[in-house]
Amino acid sequence: MSEKTILVTKPFVPNRKVLDGFLDEVWNREWFTNNGPLLQRYEQELSEYLDIEHLRVVGNGTIALQIGIKALELEGEIITTPFSYVATTSSIVWEGCKPVFVDIDDSLNIDPNKIEQAINENTTAILATHCFGNACDIDAIQDIADAHGLKVIYDAAHCFGTKYNGKSILSYGDISTLSLHATKLVHSIEGGAVVSKSAALNDRVRLMRNFGHNGPEAFSGVGINGKNSEMHAAVGLTVLSDVQAILSSRLIQCQRYDELLAELPLKKPVVHAKCEPNRSYYPVIFSSEEEALKIKATLENHNIFTRRYFYPSLNQLEYVHSEDLPVSQRVSSSILCLPLYFDLTEEDQVYISELLKEAMS
Ligand SMILES: *Cc1c(COP(=O)(O)O)cnc(C)c1O
Repeated sequence: MSEKTILVTKPFVPNRKVLDGFLDEVWNREWFTNNGPLLQRYEQELSEYLDIEHLRVVGNGTIALQIGIKALELEGEIITTPFSYVATTSSIVWEGCKPVFVDIDDSLNIDPNKIEQAINENTTAILATHCFGNACDIDAIQDIADAHGLKVIYDAAHCFGTKYNGKSILSYGDISTLSLHATKLVHSIEGGAVVSKSAALNDRVRLMRNFGHNGPEAFSGVGINGKNSEMHAAVGLTVLSDVQAILSSRLIQCQRYDELLAELPLKKPVVHAKCEPNRSYYPVIFSSEEEALKIKATLENHNIFTRRYFYPSLNQLEYVHSEDLPVSQRVSSSILCLPLYFDLTEEDQVYISELLKEAMS
């Protein structure tokens, strides 16, 4: 038995030589934050890589959601998914709006067929997550939003590199948000981005992330500190220089798990026909909570750590009010994400798969 500990995820480690080059620039300039040259360059390179026109880098993926909600002036009720990281829901509540949960379908994203029955005169927006980097039914959601005059925000925290209809998935909705946290596929340790549909909205985000400052002595509206620093931009640019290797290794690793685990009765999220997912996570759904917990414990006995992503279903948080949502609650209780990170080796994957097969037999 291997004594090696394998965690569910590990951050991509930026190349020190490349990073040091950027840090020398920062030290020479002694300009550490406040929309510095590296932050501007990071914004530019992200926009170019993702082929996006209106992108602003912010402090993290959560402030990106909060600024998105503020920039669109949302109030009242926001229809949202119960199957996501807690920040999707907590941002809505933090901004003084009420999350109204709609159950998911077998893509693990919000079920568009159930959205209309949740709309009432207080509804102002739909905030949906492209969970695990797999697209929501964007066309159906936009049709509903158009028919009812609703704004759309996508929490695209998992979606670096995901495409929908041949375009970056970040180009959809009124606003899409990205997380550049260390655990995400591409990162700047802490960081995030707001992608806006229009230049006007993009400008509002620019003002809002910097206290509303419009020049040193003028303010345009209320803002917050949503800035990111030259240090984070330096790491972000360094990681971005390895983006091809990061994205392609992830596809290879997922394909390898697919092959190694092919004979097991595991359910996986159904990928939308128009989506090319980045496969940022490797979620597997077991037949029951009991089985999922048994497998998790067995793997932990061998120092392999999976994670219950996402648990609990967000409609069960103590600070929200919601009816039961059977699909989300069932998936939440019986899903595990398997270890997946840049330097996970083929040998590790074979070992994990063998243990999983043994535990399930
Ligand atoms: C990571 C994540 C966030 C929060 O991003 P941070 O950069 O950690 O603030 C929001 N939503 C989802 C779905 C996430 O996975």
